[in-house]
Amino acid sequence: MQLSSRGRQMSRLSGIRSIMEDIAAVGNGAGSGEWLNLSPGNPSHIPEVVAAWHRLTREALDERFVESSTRYGPSRGTSELVEAVVDYFNLTYGWSIGPENVVVGPGSQMLSFIATTLFTGPDTDGVVQPLVLPRLPDYTGYQGLGLDPGGIVGLEPLIVPEGRHSFHYAVDTDALARQSRMGMMLLSNPANPTGSSIEAGELKALIETAERRDVPLVLDHAYGEPFPGVVQTRLAPVLHSHVINLFTLSKAGLPGERIAFAIGPAELVDPMVSFIANSALHAPQLLQAAVERSLRTREIDTLTTQHIKPYYKAKRAMAEELLTGALPDSMDWRLHSSDGGMFCWLSIDHDWFDDLELYQLLKRKRMFVVPGRHFFVEPLDTPFLRTHGKRCVRLSLSCDEWAVAEGIDRLGEALEELRVNA
Ligand code: PLP
Repeated sequence: MQLSSRGRQMSRLSGIRSIMEDIAAVGNGAGSGEWLNLSPGNPSHIPEVVAAWHRLTREALDERFVESSTRYGPSRGTSELVEAVVDYFNLTYGWSIGPENVVVGPGSQMLSFIATTLFTGPDTDGVVQPLVLPRLPDYTGYQGLGLDPGGIVGLEPLIVPEGRHSFHYAVDTDALARQSRMGMMLLSNPANPTGSSIEAGELKALIETAERRDVPLVLDHAYGEPFPGVVQTRLAPVLHSHVINLFTLSKAGLPGERIAFAIGPAELVDPMVSFIANSALHAPQLLQAAVERSLRTREIDTLTTQHIKPYYKAKRAMAEELLTGALPDSMDWRLHSSDGGMFCWLSIDHDWFDDLELYQLLKRKRMFVVPGRHFFVEPLDTPFLRTHGKRCVRLSLSCDEWAVAEGIDRLGEALEELRVNA
């Protein structure tokens, strides 16, 4: 049977799907010997965080099972969780939002998909107004969001060197101004994979563009404020007529339970509520009760400030030190300077380096990383991709310390092999 054009679009083997298959292979123990998985966006198992969610979930099970799990509920989210979100954000940021500004969904991946489907695609003249990723590289999961061929456009960044082994990207605001078609903008902040936080000037340019083009700017705070708070710059989320903010509980310890929510203007949030009603009815409710309790008691803040944030800060410092020790000074490698997130983004600026070759070689050494190209969008044969994007790799910091250390060692060996065999 034939797939429709949308079917073909949605059944492509995207970068995210191959990462999920890598994770499954490790889970199944593929072959013999220890696999090192420095690939996934899974949060670490921090014992205090796991214990807290276990307890909160058990309390929800004991006290709310019947009303949560044995009946359908509202598509916006349970009124208790929506009210808890409203109170939490009003108290934390001095906002005055109401329930009409909030929608709970089954994960922020789904909320991004909903927003992309609502705000991008063919306009009344049949011209595709795409999803614009204004700050590449960005989360590989965004590439599967567009239902329309050509429905996703990514803007290449400017590269700003910062000394011998460090660099960062900046938003190319001229390229943003030149982008003629646009249905919505989306970016993660701090970014997966680089860990960089949007600067105030860049945010201003994005918001002005959203206003001028009258499209939503969706800011995905998966790693940011207020939780899991894996970010050093405390940039509060913004309330604006053209901004939708996405928050998820995944990186705060609950990736398997699929709970996230969006906050934005009622006229943008309302169609998202209808989309959830039409597609999923609503998000799982037992965990909404657990999350509600974590917000009401502010236990989520304790988990963030006392456990999650310090954990990743220490892990990042450790990885930086190990990379400096394992990679030769004479090699042109640079680490993206990080403001947060759960990854290291490394560029190896040599003709002999290719991200897929490194990926295959490391796989033979029983280790997974994510090739840099997965964080860019098609076309993948631009000069920027050839000379930079395909010379990058992402390492996850969420596996155990020994695995990060061993993984960086294997990476050093693999780079040496690629260099010698070039
Ligand atoms: N946004 C970013 C930036 C991510 O890195 C991820 C997962 O890795 C997601 C969204 C997916 O989040 P969720 O589990 O809430 O769907």
